[in-house]
Amino acid sequence: MVRRLAEDDPTLCLDFLREMPTPDVMAYLLALPGVGPKTAACVALFELGRPVFPVDTHILRIAGRLGWVEVGESAEKAQQRLEPFIPARLRLELHLNLIAHGRATCVARSPKCEGCCLSAICDFIHK
Ligand code: SF4
Repeated sequence: MVRRLAEDDPTLCLDFLREMPTPDVMAYLLALPGVGPKTAACVALFELGRPVFPVDTHILRIAGRLGWVEVGESAEKAQQRLEPFIPARLRLELHLNLIAHGRATCVARSPKCEGCCLSAICDFIHK
């Protein structure tokens, strides 16, 4: 992957991506060997400041419990489905806050639903 990147940018600074529209940035990153949707979106979001919404395991789990995506849906599908519904200016913050929520409260086993700030809108707790 690094070899391929170095062919396009020997500095490996990704500067050539900064001028590209976001769909082209994502297409470029996804074409790199070993780079999947989450990694591509994280690079686009954190390094290039693009308004994309990476879905990791915490976000996928919480989104499934909240009823935002089907339980068992892939992270890739969830990313495509969720992104258009999240205002661009909120994507970074929501990504970070959901990961923090998934680590502290909506953990994989035995989520701490009592006192969870999302309980009023959560499908999981109402089932
Ligand atoms: S209510 Fe429970 S399942 Fe729903 S988001 Fe909160 S911790 Fe997760």
